[in-house]
This record gives sequence, C-alpha cells and structure tokens, in this order.
Amino acid sequence: MNIDLSMIAKSINRETECEADIVMTSFRSRLGDFPITGREPVVFHIRNQENETVRVSAEVNLEAEIACSRCLEPVQTPLCFSVDRVFRIGSDGLSEEDGEETDYLTGYELDTEKLLYAEILVNWPVKVLCRDDCRGICRVCGTNLNERDCSCQKTEPHPGMAAIADIFQKFKEV
Ligand SMILES: [Zn+2]
Ligand SMILES: [Zn+2]
Repeated sequence: MNIDLSMIAKSINRETECEADIVMTSFRSRLGDFPITGREPVVFHIRNQENETVRVSAEVNLEAEIACSRCLEPVQTPLCFSVDRVFRIGSDGLSEEDGEETDYLTGYELDTEKLLYAEILVNWPVKVLCRDDCRGICRVCGTNLNERDCSCQKTEPHPGMAAIADIFQKFKEV
C-alpha cells in the first residue's frame, strides 16, 4: 500500500495512524522462498516531529514457514518485531536520515509493502529449530533422527579422527 505523507510532512507535530495489510504471500530472499502462513494488518503510527522529520513506527506480527536448521522440517515461525524509522523532511519529499537511497520512498509516498520487506529482511531469524532438542539428521544416511534411530555407528570415530588418535598413540609409544 502507498501512504501519501505529504500532508503530515507539512503539518507540524501532527500525528496519524494508518493500517496496511501485508500483501506478500511468500518472502523471497537469497536464502530462498518462504511461505507467509500468518499475518496481521500493520498499524503504522506516523508523526511529524517539529517539521524536521517524520517518524513511522509499527508492530509487525507474521508467521513464516522456515526449515529447521538441523532436520530441515518446515517450522511455522512467528516473526514479531517493531519498526521505528525516522525520515527527514525535504523540499521535494522524504528521505532516510543518512541520505541513503531506498526503494520504499518516492517523494512523499511511502510504499508500506517495500518497507515491510526491508524490515522482515533485517529481522529474519538466524537459526530456526523445530524444538530445542531437535536431533537433526544423520550425516551418513540422512535419516531424521527425531523420527527414528538409524543403524549408523555413532560411537565409531570419524576416519580422520581415528588417524589423529593413531598419531597420539604413536607419540605415547615413543
Ligand atoms: Zn528439527
Ligand atoms: Zn544414519
């Protein structure tokens, strides 16, 4: 949704609220394409601060399907975070305080969907687990160890480790 902020940018200390739906059905990033499985409309609080800046804040609640970092099973992951942006009021529109280019501001128009995309990206979880004690998948046969055990020998040292153990053994003998 596009919100026209020109009126509020010209009205000192004025405040307003604006509700926008999250439209995207999936979140695409270089990490993959993740279905958005839950969402709430986002209420943006918009405030003119002394005719110098416009502050845009909101609470975002959505849910995305992300693979567990250990077993790769899909996990419905809540993403809840706050948005708090301050834009400088210029003669021909709003801009980031640090002057950085953005794709969500065009003149006085704020594209909420693009802003939300940028915010979801920075708030994306680093690691998702289906449960704290997820046992992951066997590196040898690929079995999901939460579902069943496999017959791969876990106690047998990795061939590389066995070689190192041999070297230590030889040192001891010397
Ligand atoms: Zn898992
Ligand atoms: Zn196995």
